[in-house]
Amino acid sequence: MASPSVVGVPELGVPFVELVGWAPFDPLELHAAPSTVRTANAIASRTFMRTPVSRPTVWHRSRGAFGTGTLVKARSSSGENAAVSTDEIASWLRAARHVVVLTGAGISTESGIPDFRGPNGVWTKNPAAEKAAHIDHYVGDPEVRERAWQNRVHSEVWSAEPNAGHRALAELERKVALDALLTQNIDGLHHAAGSSPDLIVELHGNVREAKCLRCGWRGPMNETLDRVRAGETDPRCTECGGILKSATVSFGENLVVADLERAQAAAERCDLFLAIGTSLGVYPAAALPEIALHHGARLVVMNAEPTPFDPVAAAIVRTPLGEALPALVDRI
Ligand SMILES: [Zn+2]
Repeated sequence: MASPSVVGVPELGVPFVELVGWAPFDPLELHAAPSTVRTANAIASRTFMRTPVSRPTVWHRSRGAFGTGTLVKARSSSGENAAVSTDEIASWLRAARHVVVLTGAGISTESGIPDFRGPNGVWTKNPAAEKAAHIDHYVGDPEVRERAWQNRVHSEVWSAEPNAGHRALAELERKVALDALLTQNIDGLHHAAGSSPDLIVELHGNVREAKCLRCGWRGPMNETLDRVRAGETDPRCTECGGILKSATVSFGENLVVADLERAQAAAERCDLFLAIGTSLGVYPAAALPEIALHHGARLVVMNAEPTPFDPVAAAIVRTPLGEALPALVDRI
């Protein structure tokens, strides 16, 4: 295992360019007019910058920098960490006293929900869509909101089913000391697969609720979608008349501090950190394995594409998650 003193994104040769905050992730919000994404999430930044990582993690804002290697300069996985067997990873999981799992869009692609930065990702195919997902456009343009509500009504999220990877992670908590299941996904498929709700931290919110941007009201998304189906093109908060949107976190919105702090605490405490289906190239997800490594945890990366953390991972798994996760959990 690498010494914490040599672990951390700065040691990976990352050219630090500009603090951006977190990445957008919300497939329901890919409608807005183009904009330049430049707003850092001050609350999230403060939360993570308190951590004793070697230096604050800073990310380039242009989309090409994320996940393609421009920023991350991930090395090939052909080193010794690629040769670790599934049995050995299973033995690490058995022995670990505090396991933390982080999942990203890669675990849900096999459920028919497109990811963002993979070969067929939403933003790989349509780079303008990434810049488009900013809350300012949602708030400022009624047409943007009307399109967003239509997208929500017709989203693939509502019909998606958990796949073998989600189910394997639900099984995992019955076999190992799982402290937290952190996810960047908003699709609710970990809940649907049977993972314990009290272990799940949805860093980017969820689509099961609608929220008011003015008064903070929250309610079941279905009820608001019923209003759209009944003819309201831009439904407003029944409490205060404010603008409604899904309870996800778009560009320009604050992440939920309590969720970030819980994720950070779990990363600090764990001795085994599993990063699954995430490119680990964007904030805040990328800060979490960095925190875990800094506190001496072993990192296992399971992702189809290289990540910036591959050089410091104890093991890298490239096999499709729907195969790799059940195989791994079976061996524990
Ligand atoms: Zn309201």
